[in-house]
Amino acid sequence: MKVAIVGGGIIGASIAFQLSRSGAQVTVIDAGQPAASATSFGWVNASFYADRAHHELRVASMKAYQQLIQDVPDLPVNTCGALWWESQGEGLREMQASLGDLGYSVEYLTRAQSHVLEPDIKGLPAEVLRFPSESAAEAGALADDLLALSGARIIRGMVVQGIAATHDFVRGVETSVGLIEAGHVVIAAGTGTPDVLASVGVKLPMVTRPGVLVTTKPIKAKIRSVLVTPHGEVRQLPDGRLLASAVANHQGDDASSVTETPDEIAVRVLGWLNPMIDGDPLEWDAVAVGYRPMPEDGLPVIGEVGPKGLHVAVMHSGVTLAAITGEAVSAEIMEQGGYDGLLAPYRPQRFQ
Ligand SMILES: Cc1cc2nc3c(=O)[nH]c(=O)nc-3n(C[C@H](O)[C@H](O)[C@H](O)COP(=O)(O)OP(=O)(O)OC[C@H]3O[C@@H](n4cnc5c(N)ncnc54)[C@H](O)[C@@H]3O)c2cc1C
Repeated sequence: MKVAIVGGGIIGASIAFQLSRSGAQVTVIDAGQPAASATSFGWVNASFYADRAHHELRVASMKAYQQLIQDVPDLPVNTCGALWWESQGEGLREMQASLGDLGYSVEYLTRAQSHVLEPDIKGLPAEVLRFPSESAAEAGALADDLLALSGARIIRGMVVQGIAATHDFVRGVETSVGLIEAGHVVIAAGTGTPDVLASVGVKLPMVTRPGVLVTTKPIKAKIRSVLVTPHGEVRQLPDGRLLASAVANHQGDDASSVTETPDEIAVRVLGWLNPMIDGDPLEWDAVAVGYRPMPEDGLPVIGEVGPKGLHVAVMHSGVTLAAITGEAVSAEIMEQGGYDGLLAPYRPQRFQ
């Protein structure tokens, strides 16, 4: 079976990996445009969620990641856990109770207990929640690893202009140099998805959601977990640099534009980071803006739509959801099924 995947970010790569494993002949076409995966914070979690179904999808993906890292050693996914103190007192207890009701793994830690886990962090609060099953993924590197491991043919630097279909069956994708033939086409083109789908009259309304991350120069201190503070999230990259979000609760950030200069953002972020970290004052290394592929209703869009053989997979929190999306889209194309219940709220038909 020939499958063309448009987009080689974390979603396209995960689908390519699973499809190739199942025996499909896969070609990935990537335009080389700025990818959300390369500018992601990379926190794999289910403590952020919209509703019970969304939480369950995220938990399923966390399980799929555990299977993936067991099957394929050395992937850049670290199950380091997250320490959460966006609020204290009642707010913290509400968070603990709501996640507990969902059956999620949550530990309550005193300051002394969290200090044992993060000895280099100063000023830890009195109460912290720990989500031990959450991970950090280096999403750009993970996408590249999965593509390489998939053995798929990869065409880079080529823009897919549209989908070719005859008598309501997909024939492949149109590029500037002609048709690339395939019986199944997956559009996993992030923010570029609506334009490609429009060529066959499929609607996918999306909103503009820029996100900003600040990276510091490498530091000697060690942060082991993803830290979720009232100011923003921070974690340490494998090379010792810190990666911090410019706003608190960055996954729920609904700003449609960036209004501060890079310098203002970096100074503000270092303003809350510096007092937290033992050692020399932090220096900023980079400020990066990325665009979240955000469907209009904020929820993932996964499934078959339009001419037979056309599939779409576009979502925010795509790093968290990549593992389950790869499994599910691959199973649906290979007609193995099993994901209907999990994916029912996320079908593209809701926009048609
Ligand atoms: C600042 C920021 C922080 C984030 N933090 C988190 C987080 O902590 N946890 C989490 O789970 N998620 C997070 N996300 C979201 C997550 O990064 C994205 O949902 C995910 O990376 C999307 O992956 P993707 O493969 O769908 O898209 P992308 O990575 O954007 O890849 C799409 C690819 O499609 C290609 N393409 C586009 N149009 C065409 C075309 N016409 N022809 C050919 N190729 C095309 C592009 O070149 C690109 O490489 C964050 C995002 C941002 C921006």
